[in-house]
Amino acid sequence: MSTNRRNLVLRGLLLMAALVPAAPARDYASPTAPAAAEAPAAPVTVIVHASVLDGTGSPARRTNVRISGDLIVDVGGAGPAAGETVVDADGLTLAPGFIDTHSHGSDQIFEIPDATAATSQGITTIVVGQDGGSSYPLRRFFNRLERRPAAVNVASYAGHGTLRDRVMGDDFRRPATQDEIEEMQRLLGKEMAAGAVGLSSGLEYDPGIYSAPEEVVELAKTAASFGGRYISHIRSEDRYFWKAIDEIIEIGRQAKLPVQISHTKLAMRSWWGQADKLLARLDKARASGVDITADMYPYLYWESTLTVLFPGRDFENRAEASLVLKEIAAPEGLLLTEFGPEPSYAGKTVAEIARLRRSDPVTTLIDLIRMSEAMRKETGESVESVIGTSMQEPDVERLMTWREMNFCTDGYLEGPHPRGFGSYPRILGHYVRERGVLKLPQAVHQASALAAAHMGFTDRGQIRPGLHADLVLFDPRIVRDRATPTHPHAVSDGIRSVWVNGVVVYRDGKSTGERPGRVLRRAS
Ligand SMILES: [Zn+2]
Repeated sequence: MSTNRRNLVLRGLLLMAALVPAAPARDYASPTAPAAAEAPAAPVTVIVHASVLDGTGSPARRTNVRISGDLIVDVGGAGPAAGETVVDADGLTLAPGFIDTHSHGSDQIFEIPDATAATSQGITTIVVGQDGGSSYPLRRFFNRLERRPAAVNVASYAGHGTLRDRVMGDDFRRPATQDEIEEMQRLLGKEMAAGAVGLSSGLEYDPGIYSAPEEVVELAKTAASFGGRYISHIRSEDRYFWKAIDEIIEIGRQAKLPVQISHTKLAMRSWWGQADKLLARLDKARASGVDITADMYPYLYWESTLTVLFPGRDFENRAEASLVLKEIAAPEGLLLTEFGPEPSYAGKTVAEIARLRRSDPVTTLIDLIRMSEAMRKETGESVESVIGTSMQEPDVERLMTWREMNFCTDGYLEGPHPRGFGSYPRILGHYVRERGVLKLPQAVHQASALAAAHMGFTDRGQIRPGLHADLVLFDPRIVRDRATPTHPHAVSDGIRSVWVNGVVVYRDGKSTGERPGRVLRRAS
């Protein structure tokens, strides 16, 4: 996959936040410095003149924010003193760093530790181990990440599919036995002890799709016993959507833990216009005591595999293939981003490929899956990926306004879908500034403090003294995404500076090369 990464020259740099030392830095060797026995004070930065959104949803306040070392130490206090570094943020908005509750960043974090995809959109924490797949064992992944830190903080779920694979191997096309469930529970216990946020599942994917609902409930109970949570790519995002919603509500009820729907969408024509019905069902579940929440990314198209479109895995079934193209994504809206058996098909839609092959779209879809499945069986690896346009704008906008909806990317650090680079600036630019779907303080809340609450993080996600200094400084007048399906790695406009644990990791279109990110283990 080509990186397509483009170096961006940001426009409008006149308002750029400048790093200006207020006075010569204090010399700790001088006679006025603290006694040698004391540790030298951490460097202090004061961000002045910013319009500060603290993440709670409260209106902006023009005030000073002081950070020392890795912490926010003061909000609204005195101006800079001698020796303190000053950031003049006049005209800009300062917000808590965004928390991406559904990231696929772990796949590339050691190759791309600057994580520019994330930092360039103001993300300071990524939560990985999603859709049922996690690094295994987490203890080793976390240790490795602590030896070779990234620019962003990383937390992880433990994946149900990963545990299922450890225990059942290739014999996964069936419900697990009681013994196998107990073995998965034992492994999950270890992952939870290593600091997993909770259990994730991908019930529309192999091997999770073959699990019985009780298997997932039993594992969720184990996560609950550690104070963990459950997050899920639910069992169906199209044909059996409502049943899948009932299933996740039931998991929350029976296992008594917070549950979150991943990348919420109404991805089938027959369900378009039913966002209100969905949110009413979720509100009703909440009112009955189930702590159900959700995340979403701001696009009308998803990225996944062709095979996920066939829940019965009956890839030769013409009736199913026509239903896919009629109800889930039209041939013009199904764009291959990777196709191992015929790499020249990448970048083309099923409609275009059908014309090339002098065939019809249904036959073409079946042919494509037959080719990629043959290659997958040979290589043991997934060899295709696809972007499918399945959602409509009014539903996305309605879902975005739900009080328990936090934002995510569902993106890779260098993936084919523009969400990996563009999600948060797209919310702030397109949905807040241009469409007026949310007010800026509320959108920032859903990107930061609400996301932190949904992940159980208590020391990040707000601008408040004592919390970690994860911050994003942006220009609300120009912030916007620039990544597209043809240029998915274009960095956004308007993100000026991003701090992770008090260190600037991104400034004016470029990563700084600093890697202050930490492993965020679940607080026990
Ligand atoms: Zn997913």
